[in-house]
Amino acid sequence: MPPEYPHDELLIRGTEINYLFICPTKLWYFAKGITMEQESEWVDLGKFLHERRYGSEEKEVQIGSIKIDFIRRGNIIEVHEVKKSKSMEKAHEMQALYYLYYLKQHGIKAKAVLHYPQLRETKEVTLEGREKEVEGTIREVERIKSLSRPPEPAKTKKCKKCAYYELCWV
Ligand code: SF4
Repeated sequence: MPPEYPHDELLIRGTEINYLFICPTKLWYFAKGITMEQESEWVDLGKFLHERRYGSEEKEVQIGSIKIDFIRRGNIIEVHEVKKSKSMEKAHEMQALYYLYYLKQHGIKAKAVLHYPQLRETKEVTLEGREKEVEGTIREVERIKSLSRPPEPAKTKKCKKCAYYELCWV
């Protein structure tokens, strides 16, 4: 059996995992520290939704390279992530799986709950049977980050709301 991904190398951020599934070009720009104004507006909207729904109850938790929206204690630790819409559901799920994988490497068993407050929906995510998928994702994020130039952009409907639109298409 191949070894688990060495946890002392788990330096990538949850957002980087998320962006791989949105757009590798976006991941590359973000990983290189390039930020654009529109991005912060979207982040602010996410924060606003979170604080309106959960603000007085829970706070963001930073553990090493990951930042979790909030944590609750049930039978096991519950990692909670609040999202605006389900349009990037795969990205949200893989980000949550990465958090679970990260915590497991540090000896913490957890499950994740994705919250979509505007839809009044939640989705539970567990790591069982998904570890190889997470490890493959980590390797792909690292491959993209190691590139000297951004991956060739591919125009999709996501581009309209992307902070890096001008870098790719203007
Ligand atoms: S504008 Fe489109 S291609 Fe460029 S980074 Fe954003 S999503 Fe990717």
